[in-house]
Amino acid sequence: MYAFTFERPTALAEATRLADAGGKPLAGGQTLLASMKLRLANPEQLVDLGAVPELTGIRRQGNDVVIGAMARHAEVASSDEVRKAIPGLADLAAGIGDRQVRALGTLGGSVANNDPAACYPSAVLGLGATVQTTKRKIAADDFFTGLFTTALEESELITAIAFPIPQKAAYIKFKQPASRFALIGVFVAQTASGVRVAVTGGGSGVFRHKGLEEALTRSFTPAAAGLKVSSEGLSSDLHASAEYRAQLISVMAQRAVAKANG
Ligand SMILES: Cc1cc2nc3c(=O)[nH]c(=O)nc-3n(C[C@H](O)[C@H](O)[C@H](O)COP(=O)(O)OP(=O)(O)OC[C@H]3O[C@@H](n4cnc5c(N)ncnc54)[C@H](O)[C@@H]3O)c2cc1C
Repeated sequence: MYAFTFERPTALAEATRLADAGGKPLAGGQTLLASMKLRLANPEQLVDLGAVPELTGIRRQGNDVVIGAMARHAEVASSDEVRKAIPGLADLAAGIGDRQVRALGTLGGSVANNDPAACYPSAVLGLGATVQTTKRKIAADDFFTGLFTTALEESELITAIAFPIPQKAAYIKFKQPASRFALIGVFVAQTASGVRVAVTGGGSGVFRHKGLEEALTRSFTPAAAGLKVSSEGLSSDLHASAEYRAQLISVMAQRAVAKANG
């Protein structure tokens, strides 16, 4: 690693000031520290967000569950509030990585990082959540802009994410067995404003699948999700061909709908 300085602010105003001055936010370090060890990132200053109280907590607010950016995956997985209101989201968090990753990894770090095979972005997009930052509120449909990129500006911090409570929702992933990231993961949600289907692991980033959304709007059943998915635009790599990923999207969608329907 290169030399760097380390700050641990205890208030959001101070964290914001340090980020504005060029400090790099550090959440659980699950991606950032590995990137620094590999010399893929070399920030001059790390701003540890772990002691900022405004970034913590999980609460019900009207028809939303609002989760602080520093909520660890294990905390979301075991939250009574999340389990009660959006069990599919709690299940998603419980299936991330291994116990160590879930103890340290955070909602904000996962979503800011926007790994193309990460699980959380599919819940954010699938539920039509709102990303709250130190500067504004960003709708999920505008947030994920491409491979490891988001609408966040240089020093903008995610403070929390507001997830609207759906009528039904579930997430199913086919794990890449070594990393446990999604080879394909599908989040389905039946909401007051319609059905949303978000796919992760398929390409350069999470995306909504309009064909599945239309089919599931007509009939929210596993059979309706059994349509032939096109492989066009999907990734092909050593783990899976585009055709295999296309098939997985349909199968994961069918299983997710079955799970959501209970
Ligand atoms: C072995 C392993 C297995 C994994 N398996 C899975 C899996 O199955 N599914 C899955 O979804 N993920 C998986 N992950 C990813 C993991 O869940 C973490 O969420 C992810 O690595 C980000 O880590 P972090 O939250 O510690 O953030 P960090 O590594 O600390 O930060 C990541 C990036 O986000 C930025 N950042 C952090 N917080 C904020 C904020 N509040 N505002 C703005 N920017 C911010 C940082 O500056 C950095 O650029 C795995 C990771 C590992 C190491």
